[in-house]
Amino acid sequence: MFHVVILTELWYHVNMIIGVDIDGVLAQVHEWYLDDVAKYFLAQGKPIIDATAYSATDMFGVTREQANEYWDTAIWRYAKDVEVIDGAAEYMAMLKKDGHTIIINTARWLSNQDDKDGERMRALVRKWLLNHKIPYDKLVFAEFGGGNKMTSCRENNIDVHIEDSPKEIELVAPHTPVIIFEQPYNRDFNIQNTHRARSWRDVHDYINKIKTR
Ligand SMILES: [Mg+2]
Repeated sequence: MFHVVILTELWYHVNMIIGVDIDGVLAQVHEWYLDDVAKYFLAQGKPIIDATAYSATDMFGVTREQANEYWDTAIWRYAKDVEVIDGAAEYMAMLKKDGHTIIINTARWLSNQDDKDGERMRALVRKWLLNHKIPYDKLVFAEFGGGNKMTSCRENNIDVHIEDSPKEIELVAPHTPVIIFEQPYNRDFNIQNTHRARSWRDVHDYINKIKTR
């Protein structure tokens, strides 16, 4: 008897549903603060007092009202002009090719409002993602204010969520594993059920190492 055994390369790949934040993960929000927001407050005699801060109130020592005054007009320009974070489009395309599902999960200001401003912001977000060739399977607009991504992660069966905001990380991590996308304001922030990535390459390497299903 003669047996022919065909050996095919058996490979096993675990596909995941990946949640991706926009501001601070895909979009260079911190750099925008250090440039555009900084110029605005400097003109009012308020220089940067903490360059690693997350909010304008902490970075420039201004009130929430003063910060909101800036954003009331600048938010539309920001939504259109903010730069993309290095490697985001390339590595997200690779993750898609690897077989993962990508859900963009943002709580961008105004984006979940049921009015004209909300519509305008959602359209700008879609346009920005398209302009920067960022691939995704679904776009979710979570409620603004912090802590609502916990719900959107659960509702969308997200296996791992990529996030920069310390507040969101703290609330999401007890329920859904989080990849902390490193920014100056989260550098010292470490809690359970998180992994730190310093770049999009780091994110890609890590996702293809973990198995959740
Ligand atoms: Mg963010």
